[in-house]
Amino acid sequence: MTPAYARPADERVDLIHNIPYLVLHLAPLGVLWTGFTSFDVALCAGFYVLRLFFITAGYHRYFSHRAYKMGRVMQFLMALGGTLAVQKGPLWWAGLHRHHHKYSDQIEDVHSPLKGFFWSHMGWIMCRKYRETPTELIKDFAKFPELRWLNKYHWVPPLALGFVVFFAWGASALFFGYFLSLVLAWHGTYFINSLTHLFGRRRYVTTDTSRNSFILALLTLGEGWHNNHHYYQSTANQGFFWWEIDISYYILKVLSWVGLVRDLRTPPAHVLEANRIRDGHADIGMFQAKWASAVAYLENARAQAGEYYGERKRAIDEIVETTTSAAQELARQRKEAVDTMVRDTSAAAQEIARMTQKAPAK
Ligand SMILES: [Zn+2]
Ligand SMILES: [Zn+2]
Repeated sequence: MTPAYARPADERVDLIHNIPYLVLHLAPLGVLWTGFTSFDVALCAGFYVLRLFFITAGYHRYFSHRAYKMGRVMQFLMALGGTLAVQKGPLWWAGLHRHHHKYSDQIEDVHSPLKGFFWSHMGWIMCRKYRETPTELIKDFAKFPELRWLNKYHWVPPLALGFVVFFAWGASALFFGYFLSLVLAWHGTYFINSLTHLFGRRRYVTTDTSRNSFILALLTLGEGWHNNHHYYQSTANQGFFWWEIDISYYILKVLSWVGLVRDLRTPPAHVLEANRIRDGHADIGMFQAKWASAVAYLENARAQAGEYYGERKRAIDEIVETTTSAAQELARQRKEAVDTMVRDTSAAAQEIARMTQKAPAK
């Protein structure tokens, strides 16, 4: 699929600096020399679950969204566990994730689906622009020195784990158990930024294109209920109904029974029933996304038309701008703006039609 927006010059994939990252993808191929045992397979499955649990329950639901509470030691252990997934430090991860929710699916969004599948999947991580921790977005956790340390030396725990695996169980355990689970956990996480904005169903009206997917929820321990999550972000569960399997939440629930975590937030009943698309609420998110790509195509067409529009170009620019900002306003104000928006849009469309008809032929 073609991205609706061309990325700005500072959003380029930096291949040279990412050679080590790309080479790590090949590490599981080491099993071609060592072979592997059923123990290595079990280790891979175990590490996959462990890594995704710490990312979803720790980096995501706790550090990004504060969906439950825990003591300072437990908080540190959760952050430490998160580093084992090799997705940088907790402050970097959660800070940029808060940015994603703030601008989800808009052009400012760090991994906006508008910038294409590869970009939203992993291109954005391979770009210099997003290498630093956005401390201002994560002040509440940046005040803990132990978390700042872990954020800076995030590579130490996974490196240590790699050595432990190698010396305890040998090379095949390292290639299959450690590295294969690492690569799978990476892409499992990335799917939430790429695929859950493309495949699945939308239950709730949100201002983005997030969707719910059963398969992705299974693969990512519950994160596939992404439309639920964008609709009501601060909950410890993302599966809102009993049939929406959410393994991270089940583990958190067990941890809460033994007192390691507490105050798990869940959505109130009236929230679950409100704003449902099936009840006829206008799907602003999809409308806006389609609108954004329509505008992008219009922009392209306008650029290609060049001088064709002559002196009318400025007026058309103005119309395009007004309609675009009206669409953005709509996304912000949701339903209240629908009527105004529809009126403005049809007026603008009529205006464009009138002007292009009168445009002089080349
Ligand atoms: Zn989130
Ligand atoms: Zn999202």
